[in-house]
Amino acid sequence: MGFSGVVEPIVAGDEAIRRALDDAFLPALLPALAHATGDLSLMREGLLPQALAPGAPQGGMTEEQQATAKDLALDALRKLRDGTIVTPSGGDEQRVLSIIKWMTGDKATEDYIPLLLEELAPSEEDPRAPQWRMQPGTAFKVAIIGAGMSGILAGIRLKQAGVPFEIIEKNADVGGTWFENTYPGARVDVGSAFYSYSFAQKIDWPKFFSPQQTLLEYFRGVVEEYGIREHIRFNTEVLSAKWNDANAQWSLRLRDATGAEETLEANALISAVGQLNRPNIPDIDGRDTFAGAAFHSARWDHGVDLKGRRVAVIGTGASAAQFIPAIAGDVSELFVYQRTPNWFVPVPTYHDDVPDGLLWLFRHVPSYAHWYRFWMFWMTTEGLLPAATVDAAWPEKERSVSMENDVLRMLLSGYIQSQFGDRPDLLEKVMPAYPPAAKRMILDNGVWAEALKRDNVQLVTEPIERITPAGVTTADGVERAADVIIYGTGFTASQFLVPMKVFGRSGTELNEQWGGDARAYMGVVVPNFPNFYMMYGPNTNIVVNGSITYFSECEMRYIMGCLRLLVQGEAKALDCRKDVHDAYNQRIDEANRLRAWGASGVNSWYKNRFGRVSQNWPFNAIEYWQQTREPDPADFVAS
Ligand SMILES: Cc1cc2nc3c(=O)[nH]c(=O)nc-3n(C[C@H](O)[C@H](O)[C@H](O)COP(=O)(O)OP(=O)(O)OC[C@H]3O[C@@H](n4cnc5c(N)ncnc54)[C@H](O)[C@@H]3O)c2cc1C
Repeated sequence: MGFSGVVEPIVAGDEAIRRALDDAFLPALLPALAHATGDLSLMREGLLPQALAPGAPQGGMTEEQQATAKDLALDALRKLRDGTIVTPSGGDEQRVLSIIKWMTGDKATEDYIPLLLEELAPSEEDPRAPQWRMQPGTAFKVAIIGAGMSGILAGIRLKQAGVPFEIIEKNADVGGTWFENTYPGARVDVGSAFYSYSFAQKIDWPKFFSPQQTLLEYFRGVVEEYGIREHIRFNTEVLSAKWNDANAQWSLRLRDATGAEETLEANALISAVGQLNRPNIPDIDGRDTFAGAAFHSARWDHGVDLKGRRVAVIGTGASAAQFIPAIAGDVSELFVYQRTPNWFVPVPTYHDDVPDGLLWLFRHVPSYAHWYRFWMFWMTTEGLLPAATVDAAWPEKERSVSMENDVLRMLLSGYIQSQFGDRPDLLEKVMPAYPPAAKRMILDNGVWAEALKRDNVQLVTEPIERITPAGVTTADGVERAADVIIYGTGFTASQFLVPMKVFGRSGTELNEQWGGDARAYMGVVVPNFPNFYMMYGPNTNIVVNGSITYFSECEMRYIMGCLRLLVQGEAKALDCRKDVHDAYNQRIDEANRLRAWGASGVNSWYKNRFGRVSQNWPFNAIEYWQQTREPDPADFVAS
């Protein structure tokens, strides 16, 4: 599955190449061809992509720039085909640096270079893999809770270092989010090439944004390729974990599908239970009295045929925005209960297949797929972070938080206006009143407006008062009858690790220590809980930049560094220092207050019940990479 450096020889004629170029992503093709041919003049100054346009087609290149780029690419491809130019040997690093500088508009400073080179490395080099191996026979075992994207990654890294491990998974298969969320229309909103492990890349993703089934197959494939499945105990839930200072071990209480319980001992414990794994079902009066079928989007009941039925959907967040357009055409009536409208980001290719020409180019241009992924990576390292950052002097913070944020607001409101301009009744309901990026923005290719404008669909913004046996009643006293209720109400994201109980030193329970306000150092370790590590833990979620897979890779590299200190050092236990943890969290909190999602009063799953942002990483992607490259032993108390 890896991107190998090996590509198929070009035998196609000029016309076929020209056709393929019509599907090319040019801002990454010119760099790939410059890399392959050594002809750096392909990256003309006048062709510089507009690095400020993350989602713009062709990186914001004008039509004229695109035409010139295609001519240059055709010429280079011909030369490669005809053997009139060969890939130069030597000087590769210098060439790569020049290309990076061009692609990033010279913004990639020296600090960035090591990270960017790491991102560009071919899969088989896997620079984030542990560079050490545990001495065979060392008595050390790691337990991992969860076999989603993070838990699988943890298993791969431990295996590479020769550390014995066991993964406990409550489901019958791997995949986590991508196993559980089978609702119609479920898909990722990060480009396929970037929402995948850096060391297990594919050049043949069928869609620009992978649907659930594709991702599930991908994670299953990785599990097979790396031999992880035999390390997983399926259908088994971890109920609790308890640290024992006397023998420096974690003792896990497990329950299998038959209800039988047993204990598992481990020297270190990795929680990879996800932030979005436990559905949130709102406590609406009368909920249990409803006479029809009712289910949450993450527990989609495929046994309920929605054809010709009256359906009430509660919530319009990320999942609902995907399944509402997918079911609107099937049901007889659809009532969409919206509390807060979304900001939508136009992405015309959101549902599209990767076209044949682009696939052909990935197969024939050396390292094109690398540069393509690299472009995505670079575009999302900062992404829209500058546009989500608060300007203290900016007035009216409930509308926008800075000049850049206001510009974004204008762009996005323009899009909503263009979609709903012909329906003023809907327009006033769908236009958000809060700053963009205060909540997760939703990618859209027009299907949202299409669904809401249908005759059989009604957008209800009146607050829900109660659920009755027959349907849903709003505060204005109107009852709308329904046969089925679907909850698109998200997850109990801020209640990290719940319902599991984790007892640290002196028997302290983790959620009691947190008091409902989860924090961690690096999002990974917590004082009082030695040899305990979290993936996708507090403040490691992202809103406008990066991808969760990248964050998990950083977390796991940090965890491997901690484990190395344990297996190769004298200490049996490493406990994060409280002062280090507190100072780190103070910095995180200060920064989150200066982001749209922290400054705005709008409801969102990023905040816990104290109004603190416990989910999100407030800085750019490189800062997380830098901090997590290796642990500083001075941050820990060893015993
Ligand atoms: C509908 C949906 C869409 C998403 N879209 C995107 C997106 O577009 N881009 C993006 O970057 N992220 C997205 N996410 C976030 C997504 O959760 C992460 O990208 C990623 O899948 C997290 O992987 P994980 O392994 O950390 O957690 P999960 O995928 O949640 O896996 C956790 C695993 O732990 C298991 N588990 C939990 N508790 C226990 C226990 N006590 N005992 C045993 N096993 C347990 C679960 O069964 C599950 O298999 C989305 C999430 C959802 C729900």
